[in-house]
Parts: sequence; structure tokens; C-alpha cells
Amino acid sequence: MRNFDVIVVGAGPAGLLAAGRAAELGNKVLILEKMEQAGRKLLITGKGRCNVTNDAAIADFITKVRPKGRFLRNAFSQYYSGDIIELLQKYGLELTLERGGRYFPTGNKSADVLQALLAWVNELKVEIRCNHRVEKLIVENGTIQGLQANGKPFMAKHIILATGGKSYPATGSNGDGYELARQVGHTLEKARPALVPVETEGPVAKKLQGLNLKNVKAVVWVNDKKCGEDFGEMLFTHFGLSGPIILTLSRFIVDELQKKNKVEITVDLKPALDEQKLDKRLIRDLNEHGKKKISNIFRFWLPSKMVPVFIDLLGLDPEKECHQVSSKERKQIRYLLKNLSFKINNYRPFKEAIITAGGIPTNEISPKTMESKLVKGLYFAGELIDLDAETGGYNLQIAYSTGWVAGNSCLKAEK
Ligand SMILES: Cc1cc2nc3c(=O)[nH]c(=O)nc-3n(C[C@H](O)[C@H](O)[C@H](O)COP(=O)(O)OP(=O)(O)OC[C@H]3O[C@@H](n4cnc5c(N)ncnc54)[C@H](O)[C@@H]3O)c2cc1C
Repeated sequence: MRNFDVIVVGAGPAGLLAAGRAAELGNKVLILEKMEQAGRKLLITGKGRCNVTNDAAIADFITKVRPKGRFLRNAFSQYYSGDIIELLQKYGLELTLERGGRYFPTGNKSADVLQALLAWVNELKVEIRCNHRVEKLIVENGTIQGLQANGKPFMAKHIILATGGKSYPATGSNGDGYELARQVGHTLEKARPALVPVETEGPVAKKLQGLNLKNVKAVVWVNDKKCGEDFGEMLFTHFGLSGPIILTLSRFIVDELQKKNKVEITVDLKPALDEQKLDKRLIRDLNEHGKKKISNIFRFWLPSKMVPVFIDLLGLDPEKECHQVSSKERKQIRYLLKNLSFKINNYRPFKEAIITAGGIPTNEISPKTMESKLVKGLYFAGELIDLDAETGGYNLQIAYSTGWVAGNSCLKAEK
């Protein structure tokens, strides 16, 4: 016996959007969530502030998504950033546009975003059962019949899998969805941590731990060939490097390390000055302060925490006076300011990765409906799909859009 038209697995942003839209179309909808509460990952997004979405145009947005951003073109034409903003505003959430086209709740609380989404699905009489872990999908003759959760069968004509990826598994998304899909014939593009900090060789990062640098440029070198760069903010940690530009670059780094390639990052601490201008500035400062110790003058060029590390790396005598610095030493200083180099040994595990790369391949899913091409009545939404984007509110928008489209497709399939 069927009690529900649509069952959604997972009460993250993708699942909530799928459930709400399916209910708006008149379906009786159940969400099964294995954790004790809905939206645990949503609560920790944006360091508790939740970068809700981004105001990028569709064409720009899809360039931020790997491996096949164009898969989303159809979904975005059906449901995009303006739609989620309108929905959240309807449920009392004010949003503020910040630099880089990022939208945040004006009150800076991710909990308010979750509350707005829950208010919407509650109003539509979506039932959410927490502490229900889905273990198995029930399929007959290539058509979904229902699923099994906590050892009990739940039957429905439409099942939407919105179980997330594998990152931050303590929030509930630990890769269950991959196994559920695999059991009914789907393949899996190997899941890898993405937007993840990286580990470096040697003591330098550890000595600088806690130091946050703004307006620097980081360049990734693979087998000595430049393969990516980013400008902005980064952070030194006890194991290596983190912060926005490192997380963005990690998307290349993880794949290259998995291929056993040599990966390095060089940090340009003075990206606004080319070699010539920087040299002029060094000459000027060294001349003006000829009688001062070199360690004092370094404070003009670097945050104080970096000074002893730099002097050590250069092998300079900190007591040396500025007028004693040779032109060879000045060149070395200049080089290091533009090329502070780190060999990358590893990346951090899933539990520290903002997002999971890999998942259900997009060529096994219809881009118009999010329906499985292998099992009728089964749909996918959110991070479970093999799509991942840069930071900036893009990953949540992928969850809302694919979720909404999956929910929107349920009635269409019924007709
Ligand atoms: C620290 C951090 C900060 C982030 N900040 C941002 C940000 O500011 N902006 C942004 O755009 N993105 C951000 N992201 C990424 C964003 O959170 C995810 O892309 C998004 O949550 C994916 O939504 P989802 O609904 O697909 O999956 P999830 O949010 O992971 O939800 C999946 C749900 O399915 C449930 N589930 C799993 N397996 C089962 C099962 N077998 N049975 C029942 N339920 C199950 C899980 O418990 C979970 O509740 C951040 C991620 C992290 C980790």
C-alpha cells in the first residue's frame, strides 16, 4: 500500500527543495532523514553565516562547476538564484549582497535559512521523519517501487535521492547515497575531497600557523608547469595551507596528487609590484635605513610573524645592517617575496572537505528532470551528483536547483 506519492531521502537543502516543490504540485510527500534533525550541514555553512547563493549569470556560474557545468543549464533555466531568494524572503529572511556576488542572511545566521525552508515545507504539509536511515531501494522491472528504512518498507511511485556527498560525515552525509544508487545499477565517479586544505613539506607553514594573509597570489605548479592561480586570502595551519584561495586551488591539487604528480604552491606576497618596482622599493628602504638591522627593516615588507622565518630561509644574519646587504642578497629577498614555495604532500580528509567531487555521473541522469536514466521514478538532487563548484554560494544553488527540478518532475511523470 502506498501512503506517499513522493519520498525524499535526506533533509538537506536539495531534499527540502525537492520535497517542497513536489508538495506544491499536490503530491503527498515524506522526507526520511537519518540524523536527529534536518539540515545539519546547512547550519555549518559559511562559518555559520551561510553563503546562500551567488548573483552570477548562468553562463558565468556554469564555468565555476566541474566536471560538466553545462549539465545544469536546463535546471538553472527552471529554478535559479532569484527564485530561492524570493522563496526565502517570502518566509521572512532578509538577504545582503556582499563582494563577489555572494548573498548572506542579513542577520548572519544559517539557522534562519534552515528555519525559512522548514517553514515552507511545513506549510505544504511535508512530513519529515528523522532518525530514519534508508538502507535499500526497491526496484521492479526497471521501475522504482519504494525503499527500506530502519528495516521497514516505504512504498512510493517517486523516490528522490538527496543524500549529499561524503564530506563532513558527522552531519549525516557519509556516502550512503552512492551505495543506494550502485545497488540499482548506477556507476560512481570516484568521490574525492574538494575545497579542502592541503599539507605541506617542511616546518615553514607550522611556524606561521594562525597567520592569515590578504591580497596575495598563490600559483599551483604541477611537475614544474604552472596549472592554476588565485588571488585573495590564505591561512597557514599546523599542517600546511588553508583559506579561500587554497581551497579553490585544491580542486586541481587533489587530482594531481592522486595521479602521483609533483605539486608545489608558490605564494607571491607582493602581487601589486612587479620585480622591477619591488627592487626599487627594496633599494629605497635599504638606503634610507642603512644603519638599521636587517631584521627591523623586514617589518616594512612582511607581517612580523614572518620576519624570523624569512631571515632563516634566506640564511641572513639578523644583526646585519642594511647598508651591508649585497645586491645578490637583495635579489634573493626579492625572489622570496614573490615566490615563497611549498611542496604539497597531501590533502586533508573528507571530514575537513567543504564539498565532495565525484558522485553519480551526469550522463546517467536526465538534465531536464533529474530522473535516473536507468530506473524509472528515481531522481537525484544535490551534492550526490558528480558536480562540484568553487566557494561563493554556488554549491548550495546547485542543491536548490537540482532539488526543485526533481520535485517538479514528480507530477509530470505521473501524468
Ligand atoms: C563547513 C562547510 C561550509 C559550507 N559552506 C557553504 C556555503 O556557505 N555556501 C555554499 O553554497 N555551500 C557551502 N557548503 C556546501 C553545502 O553545504 C553543500 O553543497 C550542500 O549542503 C549540499 O546539499 P545536499 O542537500 O545535497 O546534501 P546535504 O546538505 O549533505 O544533505 C544530505 C542529507 O541526507 C541525509 N542522509 C544521508 N544518507 C542518508 C540515508 N541513508 N538515509 C536518510 N538520510 C540520509 C544526511 O543526513 C543529510 O541531512 C559548505 C559545506 C561545508 C561542509
